[in-house]
Amino acid sequence: MSTIPLPDHLHPETLAVHLASERSQYGENSEALYLTSGYVQPSAQVSADKFSGDEDGYTYGRAGNPTVNSFEMRLAAMEGSEAAIATSSGMSSIMLMLFSLLKAGDHVVFSQSMFGSTIKLISAEFARFGVESTMVPQTDVAAWKAAIRPNTQLLFAETPTNPLTEVCDIAALADLAHDAGAMFCVDNCFATPILQKPMAMGCDIVMHSGTKYLDGQGRVMAGALCASEAIIHGQFLPVMKNAGMVLAPFNAWVVLKGLETLDIRMRAQSAKAHELAAWLETHPAVSRVYYPGLKSHPQHDLSMHQMSQMGGAVLSFDVKASDPTQARQKAFQVLDSLQVLSLCTNLGDTKTLLTHPASTSHGKLSEAQRQAAGIGQGLIRVAVGLEHVDDMKNDLLRGLQ
Ligand SMILES: *Cc1c(COP(=O)(O)O)cnc(C)c1O
Repeated sequence: MSTIPLPDHLHPETLAVHLASERSQYGENSEALYLTSGYVQPSAQVSADKFSGDEDGYTYGRAGNPTVNSFEMRLAAMEGSEAAIATSSGMSSIMLMLFSLLKAGDHVVFSQSMFGSTIKLISAEFARFGVESTMVPQTDVAAWKAAIRPNTQLLFAETPTNPLTEVCDIAALADLAHDAGAMFCVDNCFATPILQKPMAMGCDIVMHSGTKYLDGQGRVMAGALCASEAIIHGQFLPVMKNAGMVLAPFNAWVVLKGLETLDIRMRAQSAKAHELAAWLETHPAVSRVYYPGLKSHPQHDLSMHQMSQMGGAVLSFDVKASDPTQARQKAFQVLDSLQVLSLCTNLGDTKTLLTHPASTSHGKLSEAQRQAAGIGQGLIRVAVGLEHVDDMKNDLLRGLQ
């Protein structure tokens, strides 16, 4: 597909605002939004050539759209991958990947700290079709290695994780996967390519929930996979054409425009998160803060090396309490005292969003499972936005005091 002509060797920040499908005859400067499901063909022969793959071009919305294509090219350039494919949500991108790479009898190794729906999709839904899987501790490379079997096709990790911000060693896990003849996928939702480029560390596939920082303003659902041309066009696109979890052009346009400000948003939100985390760590009503940018974080050195010396925009903290019942009361008091920040199950917004994982994302686990996962009743997750840090602190102080 044709793109806007640009010189070679531009930096990712430049590509983030310029790389797109070619302009229409009107010369629009902001990328056009192509709301169409079908494309008129100039002749029956051209139509036949496009369908057979002998000629490039658009045919039907499930097989491609110029606005969606702009988002794919731009994200691939930012992640440093050859290509990308957009999907309707983060979860549908994982479904597309699993669907494309696995068959009955294959085995997946994945982190026990992954996004809840990711764990369910692999260990419950795909298990019904004979896909085997093993969950391992996020940061224990030896456990990942021990879990690999002759039929292991995929290693899948998310780093940093939600909500405890555990960080795994991307290069080490990529090596493990390749020694076993398997692929390694990283869910790069929390760090984004601004902080972390897993492709450059040897990973094969980068997965995104575009719903989060790529959009960045909490407006639409979106997802994407970044990988080599061979994987995207040879393995994912053929399945996509039949399975149809395509990204709607409007949502693609919103996320495309979001990518233009991703760099400045991630740096600003990460800096604010760091300041807030450091302040919370000194507060007498707080017993522990989880944030990769703090020296107290168990993988602080690895995080700084892997995440461009930044900690990201998500932190969690435990309120001080003597037992789980009191911890829940105190956490609820903080959340119910908010006047500015939002109590909202999402992250990656310009507005700061708080959640209580033990009663929401991890609410279906038993108390014992929750304890094992380290998700206490006093835990609060803060996805830091762009408000002034003093206003964030004052809003939290209302409930902490
Ligand atoms: C939100 C999220 C997902 C799922 O993305 P959706 O767009 O909600 O489907 C996957 N991984 C992580 C880390 C997430 O935060």
